[in-house]
Amino acid sequence: MDLAAAPPALLVRRHLYLGGAWADPSENEPIDVENPATGETVGQVPAGTPADVDRAVAAARAAFPGWAATAPAERAAHLDRLLAALTARAEDIARTVALELGTPLKLAARVQTGLPLTVLRDCVELAARPPAEETIGNSLVVREPVGVVGAITPWNYPLHQVVAKLAPALAAGCTVVLKPSELTPLTAYLLFDAVAEAGLPAGVVNLVPGTGPVVGEALAAHPDVDMVSFTGSTATGRRIAHLAADRIARVALELGGKSANLILADADLATAVKVGVGNALLNSGQTCTAWTRMLVHRDRYDEALDLVARAAAAYRPGDPFDPDTRLGPLVSAAQAERVRGHVDRALADGARLVCGGPDAPLPPRGHFVAPTVLADVHPDSALAQEEVFGPVLAVIPFADDDEAVAIANNSRYGLAGAVWSADADRALAVARRLRTGQVDVNGGGFNPRAPFGGYKQSGLGRELGPYGIDEFREIKAIQR
Ligand code: NAD
Repeated sequence: MDLAAAPPALLVRRHLYLGGAWADPSENEPIDVENPATGETVGQVPAGTPADVDRAVAAARAAFPGWAATAPAERAAHLDRLLAALTARAEDIARTVALELGTPLKLAARVQTGLPLTVLRDCVELAARPPAEETIGNSLVVREPVGVVGAITPWNYPLHQVVAKLAPALAAGCTVVLKPSELTPLTAYLLFDAVAEAGLPAGVVNLVPGTGPVVGEALAAHPDVDMVSFTGSTATGRRIAHLAADRIARVALELGGKSANLILADADLATAVKVGVGNALLNSGQTCTAWTRMLVHRDRYDEALDLVARAAAAYRPGDPFDPDTRLGPLVSAAQAERVRGHVDRALADGARLVCGGPDAPLPPRGHFVAPTVLADVHPDSALAQEEVFGPVLAVIPFADDDEAVAIANNSRYGLAGAVWSADADRALAVARRLRTGQVDVNGGGFNPRAPFGGYKQSGLGRELGPYGIDEFREIKAIQR
């Protein structure tokens, strides 16, 4: 892949994807797509309407009985063709993510493109397996697809978040209407180019771009949508749950996080800090699982802060298309402003600036925020409690394992976390005490087949792997 290649020219997409074909939107209102590294408009997509949602849901509803009745092996063959068509677009996808989101191109290729291809490949294999059946007494317990799924996705991993819903939903036998984020819709169009090329049956997947309050609400509230699968902020997730509750539709919610990285007294500090800083700054900190609270035993606190500052210095903000760039811009001016507000407030609350901050040098244009580390952050302060979604790390000291666990669990979120210790059993024991859906021990790698999701206000339900497919199934007991 030629990672240094120039960004694509203005990308204008004029259609929705409905019932197996590109279709005109009901109104001709465009949404501009911005390059956050420059502030320039780089593309346009249609702003869908509730009428477009009606058309898409009708197409998905009509396709549902046929797709649900398709044999698992045949569904897997369809997904395999989609995988081939998407793989052929890998280079374009990486460039488009770098362009509309600002992820450095190398990372856009490896994570933003590589991960969803892995997830889709996994779903091809899992789709071929018929759902498990079980006998309990005189009951035969079977699993069936839930029906029409409305999928609403965020901008921070614009292909992965979509594939993590669409592929398991299709594998389970559901049909889907997708509303991608209005900030990064161009990547979703590349997926639908692949859908069109793969020749998935008409209506099985449908695309309606648009804003959250218009298209998102219409989809979440639609009486013919059986399940809403949402990834995004906790505030929007709450709204979607309310809309779905009116008709008792099923919801799956993947929401925010404020994950803690627990570095115990006996940990390999250099590795724990290096990996921890990389995790917190991944995708400019716009990652729901980011370990944004680094908890360090107080005996090693000063040593850790030195290492943190040195590690963060390697993340110089710059042009996402420059192969040396490790930190891109934030997705929008509003997001950058919000993040700066969090830093200002933390400083006013008494946190100590270790590096970055309001006066650090930045590229002359674009929505950049310098990688910022704040020490002595009080566990109850806003910075330790609120999701920042930017390149900002809070460092907090603790006295012993019990206090570390208490601080980690002192959060309304419960998405992810990490534990580091030279003693693997001790690390595992601490991992078990964390009230989160995922924990990495001593740098254990992301597993795209493991269940992914949150405790508390980080969400409801699980994505990925066999658990992710089961999320799109109903359970029926047949008594004999
Ligand atoms: P967001 O909630 O603003 O938007 C997410 C999606 O919801 C977008 O498509 C948006 O258009 C739509 N939306 C907005 N308002 C809506 C409404 N009233 N009704 C229906 N749909 C609506 O979130 P975002 O800013 O795009 O993404 C950032 C957030 O997502 C962060 O909080 C982050 O933690 C979270 N996130 C969570 C996960 C996870 O898996 N847990 C993954 C990625 C991002």
